[in-house]
Amino acid sequence: MAKREAIKTTLNSIVEYWGSRVDECDLSVDWAEADSHCWRCGCEKNLERCHIIPHSLQGKDEPSNYVLLCKRCHLENPNVADKEIMWDWLKAYKTSFYETFWLIQGLEEYKRIYGKSVVEELKKLGIKDRNKVLSSFKATHNMASFHFGQPYFNSATVAGLLRMMIKELEAETETIEKCNA
Ligand SMILES: [Zn+2]
Repeated sequence: MAKREAIKTTLNSIVEYWGSRVDECDLSVDWAEADSHCWRCGCEKNLERCHIIPHSLQGKDEPSNYVLLCKRCHLENPNVADKEIMWDWLKAYKTSFYETFWLIQGLEEYKRIYGKSVVEELKKLGIKDRNKVLSSFKATHNMASFHFGQPYFNSATVAGLLRMMIKELEAETETIEKCNA
């Protein structure tokens, strides 16, 4: 197989090109930080130049054919010969706050698996204290590990940790009810 030529387009030229063409309100990133934060999940990571139209489908090496993504999002992006699809995908994942992106994916994964949202579960248990929920959630974190070569919790792991938290809170609530009976 012929070796692919190194990409010549710079990160800055990509930010410059898109910064005047796409409204940052539709994305997880502000243009002022778009050279250091992933355009899909907003995390601050080393960014990769990701083809909009794949190289193998005659995508060109020019700013208009790239977006900047972290390694993790780069593995998940759509590789198709229609340039609108990339933007549909990026906009569909828009979150307003940095650091919440993967938690949100975990919450959605939870709903897919258990048919109920974590918020509904907490409501059922009568738990309203946000700090209690946060500390219970943090307490589960040493009961999970990363996949080799993936230094983060994937959505299914986050969903699993949320489930463990709910189970723990259910058990606590039962104990309190028994003591009060
Ligand atoms: Zn990302």
